[in-house]
Amino acid sequence: MTALFLALFVLSLLLLAYYRIPLLISIAILAGLTFAFTELRHFYPIPAWFRWDLGILTVTLAGFAIKPLRRLLISNRLFSVYRKVMPRLSSTEREALEAGTVWWDAELFSGKPRWRRLLRQPAPSLSAREQEFIDGPVEELCLMLDDWEICDKHRDLPESAWRFIRNNGFFGMIIPEEYGGLGFSAQANSAVVTKLSSRNVTAAVTVMVPNSLGPGELLLHFGTDEQKAHYLPRLASGEDIPCFALTSALAGSDAGAMPDTGIVCKDEFEGEEVLGLRVTWDKRYITLAPVATLLGLAFRAYDPDGLLGDTKDLGISCALIPANTPGVEIGNRHMPIGAVFMNGPTRGKDVFIPMDWVIGGQERLGQGWRMLMQSLAAGRAISLPSLGVAGGKMASLLTGAYARIRTQFDVPIGKFGGVEEPLSRIGGRTYRMDAARTLTLIALDQGEKPGVLSAINKYQLTEGSRQCILDAMDVHGGKGIVQGPNNYLAHAYQALPISITVEGANILTRSLIIFGQGAIRAHPCLLKEMNAVMGIANSQARRVFDNALFTHIGFTLSNTVRSLLLGLTGGMMTPAPVRGPHAKYFRQLSRMSAAFAFIADAVLVILGGKFKFKEKLSGRLADVLIHLYMASAILKRFEDDGRPAEDLPLLVWGMEDSLFAIQQALLGVIRNFPLPVIGRIVKLIVFPFGHPYSGPSDKTVTAIAQILLDENESRDRLTDGVFISDRDDATGRVNKAFHLVLEAGPAERAIKNALKESVNFENYEGLVKRATESGVITEEQATMVRLAQQASARVIAVDDFPPEQVAGLVDPTVTPREPDQTASS
Ligand SMILES: Cc1cc2nc3c(=O)[nH]c(=O)nc-3n(C[C@H](O)[C@H](O)[C@H](O)COP(=O)(O)OP(=O)(O)OC[C@H]3O[C@@H](n4cnc5c(N)ncnc54)[C@H](O)[C@@H]3O)c2cc1C
Repeated sequence: MTALFLALFVLSLLLLAYYRIPLLISIAILAGLTFAFTELRHFYPIPAWFRWDLGILTVTLAGFAIKPLRRLLISNRLFSVYRKVMPRLSSTEREALEAGTVWWDAELFSGKPRWRRLLRQPAPSLSAREQEFIDGPVEELCLMLDDWEICDKHRDLPESAWRFIRNNGFFGMIIPEEYGGLGFSAQANSAVVTKLSSRNVTAAVTVMVPNSLGPGELLLHFGTDEQKAHYLPRLASGEDIPCFALTSALAGSDAGAMPDTGIVCKDEFEGEEVLGLRVTWDKRYITLAPVATLLGLAFRAYDPDGLLGDTKDLGISCALIPANTPGVEIGNRHMPIGAVFMNGPTRGKDVFIPMDWVIGGQERLGQGWRMLMQSLAAGRAISLPSLGVAGGKMASLLTGAYARIRTQFDVPIGKFGGVEEPLSRIGGRTYRMDAARTLTLIALDQGEKPGVLSAINKYQLTEGSRQCILDAMDVHGGKGIVQGPNNYLAHAYQALPISITVEGANILTRSLIIFGQGAIRAHPCLLKEMNAVMGIANSQARRVFDNALFTHIGFTLSNTVRSLLLGLTGGMMTPAPVRGPHAKYFRQLSRMSAAFAFIADAVLVILGGKFKFKEKLSGRLADVLIHLYMASAILKRFEDDGRPAEDLPLLVWGMEDSLFAIQQALLGVIRNFPLPVIGRIVKLIVFPFGHPYSGPSDKTVTAIAQILLDENESRDRLTDGVFISDRDDATGRVNKAFHLVLEAGPAERAIKNALKESVNFENYEGLVKRATESGVITEEQATMVRLAQQASARVIAVDDFPPEQVAGLVDPTVTPREPDQTASS
């Protein structure tokens, strides 16, 4: 009886923690149980010590509910300890951490994500006006772009494309219509960048920069009315071309440490003495700088003569400086690899600017860093993630097509198991990346500024794109390596490091920002605890701390229990919000979310302020958060698409790959746990029966390869939103050949069956003739086979050049030999 009751008591304790039943209700339930049990002594012999022990445990728990008592005994003491161990944050770190909002990341940090909330979010959509723009001007612009001409011959966009971009409002997508801009949603902005990126990275970067963090975005949020009225219509119409200069040679990733200065002073401006700043800067890598007419500049403002008050170091500030201002040096170009968008340095020495050139005017002097951090999320979640997804979509489209067109050993290379693997990674990753892109855009369009999610998107979608393009290169073999107008991969491959490095270099974003900011912002208690102990140590602060601390303790206990019970039941204890083959993944993600929240807390509690310097642990925990988010996005997308059964392999690949990545990252944390003994206990709690996830199966891999190697709705959905050329250019030829090869397939199979010989480029004329004469195929089929073989040969062809041209001895703008001439050689 005693054993039975003890089991009942422990089970109740676990379930109360698992379901996060409030403390007072939990105590009432446990006290009721203890009382009922003591009453049983009239019927059964129950040892008195046991009854007393349970009573003491219940009373102790009740003690936690009496706030003055627990403050006296526990939280006031811990308050002083926390004040010592909490990391000291600089003001720039604090502003970066506190910027933006939290969204689905907070649910993942809770260890108990509310899936119905996610599924209730609206599905992504575009307005009719936005769709018209994408089908009209964006399509037209894509048609004006020739990658080879732009990158290798002219090293610039054609003048007609520049004009078209300016005249059609591409630079004003984020500017409201009242200022003459397009006033597009985040979904539309991303759709434009995705489509342009799929055609030409240079054009995409040129368009994305004014619509990302820069003068437009800063003016919209912080500009004075006069500044908005003056600049926004000029930016929207393309009359002004903006750039934004933050990075200097000394301060790259640590942009807050910039040495560029603005000294408050008085000087003559347009014939009058005015208050302003004498600004000195030396910036590099600035996109659009060589052609910019309006320079957005970040510098640190000082007031040594006390013209504004007692503060000497006013802090980072942002100003808008017309590029033709005397003393502004601008115009030289850097040459980034793989793309030829305008990028270059800018310098200035003691350039006087009046105070009303500071964005937001004098009252915003010194607030530049906060302004930048608060505006960072939107652009970072749109521009480079869209470029990354375009890379994945194009890799899916073109690599699948090429792997179907190119045959070796009489078999399309995509049918070899070895090639199926990279094909499936390309398709699976692209599906996952696109899902994360659209989910984050849903948040943006609801007015959120999700700082952590935008960092996840920037990191994972550029990294994912890099993996897709590397796999695409492998599948293409020599075709991807030899440069020329026939190569549609080379520039994307060469330009990969750009998106990895800019807007927060990826190593830093993964190992410092994602979990570092997530732990503080998205954690339900940590920021409250930090704020309480970092301010003045009064009784109000202690009360706030006490509440946050005990919520935190309850939260950690609950996640420990949830991790254990979900581990023991393989996730089956938690409900899924849907039915169907994907329901189990909701459960697995709930399980891993609990494990993540539990382990993250354990690491943070053990390391305290030292965590800031443990980037390897932070990077692994970031991997967990990233994959929890990406996998959530997959489930949302599948539901939004109406659960198409044909897309299941893509869903399964993404889920299995993400769950495996989460498991490996958690094991990495456990193996390197700050206290190894605790690490071993944590492992038993989280993975009581070993490691449940092993990545996508071979069956899933083959199923995805088949999607990419054929025409089907899954492939269309996966690659939706990219520019598909129907011209006789590098990508147009692949598309055409792909469709012809598929159409000619039945006839080629019939020839092989009847004549026991496979059709290829060398023998097709003779074989087709014999097959037609013997009635194996019709005349119409014969034409199809011929066209398919000729189109394939043109795709497989690569360019070659006269040696003098390769050596740069003749005009590089000379066109190389026609590709079909080289095909037969
Ligand atoms: C093509 C291009 C366009 C650009 N456009 C603009 C622009 O328009 N405006 C603008 O202001 N800037 C722009 N930049 C600058 C860009 O944002 C910086 O290059 C970037 O911030 C990184 O700085 P860095 O190159 O000096 O690298 P570094 O800061 O020297 O970093 C080198 C490496 O160290 C890593 N690292 C640094 N600190 C840490 C840390 N604490 N933890 C872990 N890893 C760390 C980084 O991740 C990176 O991998 C552009 C850069 C390029 C190349």
